Amino acid sequence: MDAPMAEPQARRLLVDLAGSLFARGYSVGSAGNISVRLADGYLITPTNSSLGRLDPLRLSKLDRDFRHVSGDAPSKEVFMHRAFYTARDDAGAVVHLHSTMATAVTCLPELDAVNPLPPLTPYFVMRIGKRLPTVPYYRPGNPQMEPAIQNAARVARAVLLANHGPVVSGRSLVDAVNAAEELEEASKLFLLLRGANPRLLTAAHVDDLLKTFG
Ligand SMILES: [Zn+2]
Repeated sequence: MDAPMAEPQARRLLVDLAGSLFARGYSVGSAGNISVRLADGYLITPTNSSLGRLDPLRLSKLDRDFRHVSGDAPSKEVFMHRAFYTARDDAGAVVHLHSTMATAVTCLPELDAVNPLPPLTPYFVMRIGKRLPTVPYYRPGNPQMEPAIQNAARVARAVLLANHGPVVSGRSLVDAVNAAEELEEASKLFLLLRGANPRLLTAAHVDDLLKTFG
């Protein structure tokens, strides 16, 4: 994890990155939520807020035990973020989207629970890594989803939630947003090439990338 940012800068950057994701169609309506680790807790987007219309001063502030301390009430999906922070010391920020292409992949009947997306490009491997576990479908709000995500997050920087969307962690806010965008691009390529016989990166290519950039 990168050293936590000062809170005023983190508030501003979270709102700017969320607005950029919304403007480019990565999130619609009130879907999606973003959090960042601070020195004394976390910031997360409020419940029912739109990523396109956030107010830096109304972001939900949580303490280190994820208790709400100030700002608007936190996203109802806060437990997805908690699952990543408690599973991964290197997680400095978490981005959850219902972005179209990655969500489409989570609905495929033949979804490979271990490697749903093949290694098509080096950028996907560098940003997401070797593993992208799939967490089975849970009704939103089902408390069993948190331990399921936590287990998956112990071995991966990102997970796909079946019939729901991706949850992606990064060492910093910018890192997590970049990884979420790369996952969406990889999903788009995968869907474009579905039924074709694309040339994939080999296991040696993947290992070389992870050794160099992992
Ligand atoms: Zn969601």
